[in-house]
Amino acid sequence: SAVRSEAAQTNIKVIVRVRPHNERELQDNFKTVVKIIDDRMLVFDPKEEENPFFYRGVVQKGRDLLKKQNKELQFVFDKVFDMSTSNLDVFEGSTKELITSLLDGYNCSVFAYGATGAGKTHTMLGKEGDPGITYRTMAELFAEMELQKDAKDFNLGVSYLEIYNENVQDLLHKVGPLHLREDGRAGVVVAGLKIISIHNADELLSLLAKGNKNRTQHATDANQESSRSHAVFQVYINISSKIDGQVKHVKLSMIDLAGSERASATGCKGARFKEGANINKSLLALGNCINNLADGIKHIPYRDSKLTRLLKDSLGGNCQTVMIANISPSSASFEDTYNTLRYANRAKKI
Ligand code: ADP
Ligand code: MG
Repeated sequence: SAVRSEAAQTNIKVIVRVRPHNERELQDNFKTVVKIIDDRMLVFDPKEEENPFFYRGVVQKGRDLLKKQNKELQFVFDKVFDMSTSNLDVFEGSTKELITSLLDGYNCSVFAYGATGAGKTHTMLGKEGDPGITYRTMAELFAEMELQKDAKDFNLGVSYLEIYNENVQDLLHKVGPLHLREDGRAGVVVAGLKIISIHNADELLSLLAKGNKNRTQHATDANQESSRSHAVFQVYINISSKIDGQVKHVKLSMIDLAGSERASATGCKGARFKEGANINKSLLALGNCINNLADGIKHIPYRDSKLTRLLKDSLGGNCQTVMIANISPSSASFEDTYNTLRYANRAKKI
């Protein structure tokens, strides 16, 4: 049986963001399977309106008996963002509050989870003219550092890597696979990873654009732009107090996870299947770590994947974690949405 730790002090926020219908979902005969109740609750696969079925003015009793029963599953999260939510709203309701913890010395991590096409990259990176939460969080961080500059000196560096097929690649400086090393003092480090100094959030945009060009993309049957890699953006800050000289090292990690759809759903075979297996391994390991942390279980299986090893010092303890589960509102993605909601539900603190 599980060992539970009374002292476990885990701060995990689980947020769901529903994206708008896309063209295909609007045109074809799909229906909406996500009903937002309020800013914390949604119902998946709700029962349709109690509309007796009329045929030539006569109620057709028993017409619906052959129809599949709706699941009508109610979920409660720390926050639910409906399809009208902007990236600015998401930022204000999710990562903005991490800045204080971060500058107080606590590592923070943010994950965008969901199937390919569910809106992960839109949430994290956004697009030209509508930046995602990575840029907005960094802009807020720079503004807050400016406010605190009389009391503290800040030194900031960023890195951007991807984990693809359980290999780590630097997205800002292509040199071949990098290795994770256990460093007694610093924890797990990526040997040879380039850390770049930046001085404002605008410098970040070109770095992210450059990094994204280097991301591994493979066409699959399911989606041409399917992204099978985890993109990990990290910010390292050295904070030295001008008052007592105390120095703190903190880290913010923002991760655009690989698509969570199952390998079988993409018709993957051979090489692609191995890819799928590895992606599932990292997502599964992340899920298991977060579940155990949320449930206060002592053993956290960080060693089970590259992603969780890398983030060992940014999950659990006094770290703040935000999981943004992205879903489509349409019956076109019924299984993916169902699976994502269950994954997110299991990540909640009990
Ligand atoms: P993912 O990264 O999860 O595969 P994307 O973020 O690329 O998915 O989103 C798929 C498509 O849907 C993109 O064209 C994106 O611009 C659009 N999209 C996603 N979320 C939203 C949103 N909240 N509002 C408007 N468009 C969105
Ligand atoms: Mg993406």
